[in-house]
Amino acid sequence: MLLGKKNILSLFLILLVCACKSNHPQQIEPIQSFNAIDFNSIKPGSLVIFDVDETLIQPVDTFLVNEHTPQGKAFRQKLIQTYPILKSDNHIASIMLQEAQRPLLEPNVIHHINRLKNSGVFVIACTGMNTGPYGIHNSLEEWRYNHLKSLDFEGSFNDIVLKISYSGRNPVFYKGLLATDLKPKGPIVGIFIDALKLKPQNIIMIDDDYDYLLSVKNECEKRNISFQGYEYKGSKTLPWDEDLVQFQADYLVKHKKWLSDKAVRTFMRFNRKKLSL
Ligand SMILES: [Mg+2]
Repeated sequence: MLLGKKNILSLFLILLVCACKSNHPQQIEPIQSFNAIDFNSIKPGSLVIFDVDETLIQPVDTFLVNEHTPQGKAFRQKLIQTYPILKSDNHIASIMLQEAQRPLLEPNVIHHINRLKNSGVFVIACTGMNTGPYGIHNSLEEWRYNHLKSLDFEGSFNDIVLKISYSGRNPVFYKGLLATDLKPKGPIVGIFIDALKLKPQNIIMIDDDYDYLLSVKNECEKRNISFQGYEYKGSKTLPWDEDLVQFQADYLVKHKKWLSDKAVRTFMRFNRKKLSL
């Protein structure tokens, strides 16, 4: 059968469209809220990965919101000079971890997560956090799992605990939560899906850290998995307040108790009143 020039061109275009479709798309886009994601369009068998800090949850107290800013880091250095014990003893820092509030940034995300799980989509949380014992905690992954559970978040595979040895670190999958122990997320997600014999055609990931998104995107490219990344920009900022943070830190070291910003402000007002009497 002879094909005309026009038909050949049409055939070429059809083949091109098919080729583009089968070429697994890899994208990252910024979002301000989970509302920007069409969760209903996520197909069964896909894997959805939620980052934890500054994505699912965020602390509410000034020091913790600013922990990784230049002011927060400088304050920490100053604190270690005042209290050298803080350098080697995690006990006090673990009390702060335990007692400071870290609510969900967008509580309605739990509804979407449950719907995804019910429709055959796998959902996990993935954090770059350290693993293992820390101060008062037997294991950080267990602490984090319990905290997320208290907020009604539970990932898929919540009966599985998987210890991973990777490049001198100890990532763990703990009942729906993958903690990479400071390693890039891509290779650890790769090891996790191999260990569970998952063959997702699509991975959807929401994270405030662009490098982590990139790392999983690269892993997906290697494995011919479609990747849709969302760079989450919905976390909040708080202005630094040196007096408040200093009071909070001194109180924590002295009394082994974390006071919220709100409690500190009440204390400070009360003390000022006493002084002016
Ligand atoms: Mg994060």
